[in-house]
Amino acid sequence: MRFVVIGGGPAGVRAASTAARLGAEVVLVERDVVGGAANLWDCIPSKAMISTGALISRARRAELLGLAPLTPTVDLGALAHRVQAVSDQLAASMTRQLESQGVRIARGTAQMTGPHGVALDSGDGTVEVLDADAVLLATGSSPRVPDWAELDGERVLTTRQAYPPPVVPEHLVVIGSGVTGVEFVHMFRSLGSAVTLIVSRQQVLPAKDPEVAAALEADFLSRGVRLCIGARAVGIDRSSEGVAVRCDDGRVISGSHALICIGSVPGSAGLGLDSAGVIVNAAGYVPVNHHCQTNIPHIYAAGDLSGRLPLASVAAVQGHKVAEHVMGLHTRQHRHLDYDKAASAIFTEPEIADVGLAEAEAFALGRKIRVTKVPYAANARALIDGDPRGFVKLVSDPATGVVLGGSIVGAHAAELVSVIALAVTANLRVIDLAESLFVHPALAEALAEAAE
Ligand SMILES: Cc1cc2nc3c(=O)[nH]c(=O)nc-3n(C[C@H](O)[C@H](O)[C@H](O)COP(=O)(O)OP(=O)(O)OC[C@H]3O[C@@H](n4cnc5c(N)ncnc54)[C@H](O)[C@@H]3O)c2cc1C
Repeated sequence: MRFVVIGGGPAGVRAASTAARLGAEVVLVERDVVGGAANLWDCIPSKAMISTGALISRARRAELLGLAPLTPTVDLGALAHRVQAVSDQLAASMTRQLESQGVRIARGTAQMTGPHGVALDSGDGTVEVLDADAVLLATGSSPRVPDWAELDGERVLTTRQAYPPPVVPEHLVVIGSGVTGVEFVHMFRSLGSAVTLIVSRQQVLPAKDPEVAAALEADFLSRGVRLCIGARAVGIDRSSEGVAVRCDDGRVISGSHALICIGSVPGSAGLGLDSAGVIVNAAGYVPVNHHCQTNIPHIYAAGDLSGRLPLASVAAVQGHKVAEHVMGLHTRQHRHLDYDKAASAIFTEPEIADVGLAEAEAFALGRKIRVTKVPYAANARALIDGDPRGFVKLVSDPATGVVLGGSIVGAHAAELVSVIALAVTANLRVIDLAESLFVHPALAEALAEAAE
């Protein structure tokens, strides 16, 4: 089986690795670095920056933990070095693993030349044509830039240009209050920037449980973040001193820098999908079935390009499933990916994470549910750590006790939610959580308590 993977992000790397382990002859084409946008610009650098921000916040609460006041100062050079080092280390370890599995990593830009042909342009004048029995398109996505904004890489930025920043912006105006927007608000506020967030709807995180969004809004306001609710940005004027963001309701928000976080566009342009006969939808995504097959059965699409949940975690599991399908393993105990059961997290402060059915969603569906909620303030570990902000909310079926979902707002939510994700995937009941012998004192005890 000759398997060509285009794009070395989480979807491509995982597919290449699994397929090689299962015996395929794999070529992974990547024009940038192994690990993809996830490693170079998105998940990893943003979380590395946020990790530094978390230490700053913790240091600011030093007095609560019996220390004399601490005043941390940011060393931007050292921070930039650290962020790069984490990303480099991950790329190197993925590269080593793939090479040890016999994957050929081909540096260059790939384009389909037909249903079985992939042209690899190495950028040095050589073009190699690869023959493939199966192809995975995993070219990801990039930040969406509206036609009313002109990026200058200095004051008007997308997330790809925002870090590590050469200076800490004096006043950052963040446009867009989805997951990426709020994470950048949190990141730059932690580093000391004044921040204004432009929120086009009536709450931040419009797709999330209102109670969860309210907790984040309360935190932002308490940290001095200005929220400009119900305003849609329609233009940015730039001067030598700063930016002025014009909104559709007439408000103008001035700042030193503007950061655009209004979603992404799929990486389907220039891939030669026409030559291969692959259908692309109006938004540029490549529609796939539950095996991630496109309309051409031996050509697959995974990750952000597939238009499903744009998460690195989902992309990687899609990649794994694709490899199994390519190698004919789907006929055995194959479980389709259930995107409704994907856990996701928002690395703000407090952290937010959820999985499965949300309370507001069940209400909208008219579905009977049992909701139990436990505040972090009742948890010994949270009090010991001096951070009792937040809560755990568990959603279950009142008739069967099966865990349907949950939301966590509070420290380490992204870690804790995995327990609920496992319960949701394995159809565990609340009693299974309540009777599990968790560690004491641990934040996870709040989950067991919510399950009682
Ligand atoms: C700021 C930000 C933070 C995020 N944080 C998280 C997070 O914490 N957790 C999470 O789960 N998700 C997060 N995401 C989402 C996550 O980054 C994406 O869902 C994920 O990167 C998608 O993976 P992918 O495999 O589709 O491709 P990508 O990671 O986008 O990689 C695609 C690769 O394909 C390569 N490529 C493209 N075209 C070609 C071509 N023609 N030839 C060769 N190579 C090509 C590109 O160079 C790139 O390396 C974040 C997104 C953003 C914007």
